[in-house]
Amino acid sequence: RPRVLSGIQPTAGSFHLGNYLGAVRQWVALQETHDAFYMVVDLHAITIPQDPAELRASTRLAAAQLLAAGLDPERCTLFVQSHVPEHAQLAWVMNCVTGFGEASRMTQFKDKSAKQGADRTTVGLFTYPILQIADILLYHADQVPVGEDQRQHVEITRDVGERFNGRYGPTFTIPEPYILKETAKIYDLQDPAIKMSKSASSPKGIVNLLDEPKATVKKVKSAVTDTGSEIVFDEEKKPGVSNLLTIFATLSGTGIPELEQRYAGKGYGALKTDLAEVVTEWVTPFRARTQEYLDDPETLDSILAKGAEKARSVAAETLATAYDRVGFLPAK
Ligand code: ATP
Ligand code: MG
Repeated sequence: RPRVLSGIQPTAGSFHLGNYLGAVRQWVALQETHDAFYMVVDLHAITIPQDPAELRASTRLAAAQLLAAGLDPERCTLFVQSHVPEHAQLAWVMNCVTGFGEASRMTQFKDKSAKQGADRTTVGLFTYPILQIADILLYHADQVPVGEDQRQHVEITRDVGERFNGRYGPTFTIPEPYILKETAKIYDLQDPAIKMSKSASSPKGIVNLLDEPKATVKKVKSAVTDTGSEIVFDEEKKPGVSNLLTIFATLSGTGIPELEQRYAGKGYGALKTDLAEVVTEWVTPFRARTQEYLDDPETLDSILAKGAEKARSVAAETLATAYDRVGFLPAK
């Protein structure tokens, strides 16, 4: 079985539709065909300041949402990144194989740091793609299911992994991104030029899966649409409507051409009203399942403990090999 590895940040509490459609939905599907490792990336979360109590709670909440979305601990390995210290350990080695110039070219860092200003930007935010290199290489992942915004980070993983292999001998599997074209980028409802994002979207632009259904309806209904009134999929001329059609099609399992037909001659209002219902119907049971996992923290923690143990057995072996290859003296 080919292996997949991916992660999601526990920041902001609720996942949003972009996280689900762009990544988590694929994770659920891939656990049937792949040896799957999925993690809540709390080490990545602290690249921006986090309240400790909130971080702890949101880490459990993230795991609960992943289970509620359909991850099955019998079919995949679900764990918390900080429970597997090998991530931080291999990251240091990767820091020393990555060029400062190539790390400086990461567009996500440039965007996020520009917004925060240099004094508030941490060095951790700068090196976070390099921690991600370690995350992926530790598990010999063949594929990395992510949204389009993460493509560059998978590319740098390939470059650095190949460099390490060339310098020290074959050690790591070189991964491919696994990005589904249709849902690679879900856009902000208020600004269809930017991706829906935990850290960058305005509250009105982001559909959080754990929002109250009423709030969800309101956000969908007030989504920015485009000039004209025709409901057609055209990402260039009608980015707002196209985004709504993508969400509608994926959540309902109806094809976009079929939706175009159904709404021919009807206005944006009809589309939004129906989409609000589709989204609410999906999130309502999701919210209930998430709550069930939260109500039973012992079960949740034991799932995560088992996951961490399984993950560690793979990660420790890879780290030992990498340490040996770079010439570290064995500890005993
Ligand atoms: P942040 O803005 O703080 O980086 P985020 O919204 O990108 O947060 P992450 O936890 O960083 O959330 O991402 C988890 C996964 O969701 C990643 O695979 C990422 O590519 C994917 N993803 C995030 N936003 C979108 C989006 N708008 N469309 C498609 N995929 C997305
Ligand atoms: Mg992100």
